[in-house]
Amino acid sequence: MATSESPGLPKETLLRDLRADSDPVLITARVVAAERRDVTRRSDGGRRPVLSGLLSDGTATVRFTWWDPPAAGVERGSVLRAANVVVRDFRGRAEVSFTWKTRVEPASELELPSIAPESMPRRTVSEIAQGSEGFRLDARVVRVRPKVVSVGEERREIHEGILADGTASIAFTAWSDLGLAEGESVRLSGIYARTFRSRPQLILDQRTHVERIPGEGLPVFPADGLPPRTALGELEALGGSDWARVEGVVVDLRPPSGVVYRCPSCRRAVSQGLCRVHGAVEGVADLRARLVLDDGTGSVTVNADRAIAERLWGRTLPEALDALRERPDPERLTEELFTTVFGKRLRAVGRATVDSFGTTLYPDTLSELAPTPPDAASAQRRAP
Ligand SMILES: [Zn+2]
Repeated sequence: MATSESPGLPKETLLRDLRADSDPVLITARVVAAERRDVTRRSDGGRRPVLSGLLSDGTATVRFTWWDPPAAGVERGSVLRAANVVVRDFRGRAEVSFTWKTRVEPASELELPSIAPESMPRRTVSEIAQGSEGFRLDARVVRVRPKVVSVGEERREIHEGILADGTASIAFTAWSDLGLAEGESVRLSGIYARTFRSRPQLILDQRTHVERIPGEGLPVFPADGLPPRTALGELEALGGSDWARVEGVVVDLRPPSGVVYRCPSCRRAVSQGLCRVHGAVEGVADLRARLVLDDGTGSVTVNADRAIAERLWGRTLPEALDALRERPDPERLTEELFTTVFGKRLRAVGRATVDSFGTTLYPDTLSELAPTPPDAASAQRRAP
């Protein structure tokens, strides 16, 4: 193994300590994302293969570019040791490239740097941002569910869920079964954050260290398994949430609502028989309701899918299509949906995002609440 004292030998370096223009370095890291493509050479128009992606060693994640990589054997999850990598600075972050001077060889899990969880700084959920790595987190497992996904040709079982502490909640994906159970408190290290649908998400994998902790000071969720209620004005100020509970009164229905038609290939809404991606298609009928809820502090568009919209409306999609065949007036039908939902007080739980159109919530569950008594309603309006 190289030591820092040996002159001319590359120095073993953690990814978080990489600096441009440093002496020759040696890194050991896992490939967490990789994409292969061909780049056209300017000199003779020939094609040159390049593999690029992300490397992680538990202390940081850096972009890598590998010119003329081996034809196979390097994929997501591979552990590599690379000596004499070229380190560059790109917008304040280190990046590495493997050139003809770089010696790359496969390495094992055990050769990855071992970093004691206690030596990692602690972060709260609200402090986690895109690219966060090399920290530990104390949180409660709010929800965890297995899901089967396709990775290349392989079918893999992953676990998805929500973690929360007193500051916020965050979605996670665990690429190996860490035995997480709903309700337990854990101290996690060897985790990192990536952006998914414009919100940070935690990735847990084989390197993640899980310690069960008593969890004093972590919020306990009620037995109904719901997050605490967030006022709509606050939800917008938070920039959304992975797991929010909101309550409000339906004040509007946004288009497209009611019977909509979707592309059979990509599920995008079809407009005048045309899919944006697939051109002329035979649209497949679907039902949806984009409900505007207001709670006196702000509003949210709740994007209800077919199952939820059917239950709320009391009409199924086939029934709605029958009504349309009898009287082909989609606007009248949407008006009927609006009349049914207008003024209802609803509780929605799900993922909320904020963009220039406002706050949108994609509900996992939607339930109807008893109407607010007039006194409480006016008190709510007076509240800031
Ligand atoms: Zn399409």
